[in-house]
Amino acid sequence: MPLVHMKPMLKTAKAARYGIAAFNMIDYNSARAIVDGAEEMNAPIIIQVSVKTIKLWSHKTLGSWVAALAADADVPIALHLDHCKDLDVIKGCIDNGWTSVMFDGSADPFEENVKKSKQAYDIAMAAGVGLEAELGAIGGVEDDKFVAEDEAILADVNECLAFCKEMPELAVFAPAIGTAHGDYKGEPKIAYDRLEKLTSIIDIPIALHGGTGLTDEQFTRCIQSGCAKVNISTMHKKHFVDGFCDVKTKEPPVKEPIPYIEAQYETMKAGVMDMIRTFGSEGKASQMKAA
Ligand SMILES: [Zn+2]
Repeated sequence: MPLVHMKPMLKTAKAARYGIAAFNMIDYNSARAIVDGAEEMNAPIIIQVSVKTIKLWSHKTLGSWVAALAADADVPIALHLDHCKDLDVIKGCIDNGWTSVMFDGSADPFEENVKKSKQAYDIAMAAGVGLEAELGAIGGVEDDKFVAEDEAILADVNECLAFCKEMPELAVFAPAIGTAHGDYKGEPKIAYDRLEKLTSIIDIPIALHGGTGLTDEQFTRCIQSGCAKVNISTMHKKHFVDGFCDVKTKEPPVKEPIPYIEAQYETMKAGVMDMIRTFGSEGKASQMKAA
């Protein structure tokens, strides 16, 4: 089926309290592992891409790979741009058929973030694609930007409310709630109270960033509290590397490239299926298509 807009997917998921996995693809094979994992689980899925990865492959190439994979798949798939501060990159994605984009103005002061996010919002709304916007500072590393976990700033409730009022049709809202990108240095301290409060006053589904390293209980609690989009990047990247390295250490040495690609694919796909199971979105694709 054609690529879908993520807003209806996320609204349905939030209402039924399950999470839709959003995996960061690296190359064609990693996208194929995400799509096939989702198909095998009959689950809706989001494929997202970092700006770094766009710089490597281009909007056009990535867009055509994922559109081709989606065309042959029988589950809803959205193609989403992850953390981006550059409106030109956002426009490039939209021009190449991506169905969703994120504007990340979280490094700016509140007023500035609202102003810039609103520009991205107007562009996305005019093009009919979904927009994700962020408030507060999510810890860890994202595209070379580093925020120490203890410096991560939780999103302020009143600011969240004002932010979302400016952009009522956001597909998903990403407030900082204590999670971090990359590998956690210590025990993640998720501000469940803050998350529950936000869900009670804001209708827009919430994105959980920094999913890798959280326990099943933490995922479940976040999803029950209103997180409908659950981002997994670090784990998928690790499986990409591990799948390759497992073949590399074999004796006698494997000299053909295809076994490496197959091992990467199987390792990544198993990880995708595992997360879908944890987030409760298994079997939800047909339900979504019928809606
Ligand atoms: Zn993120």
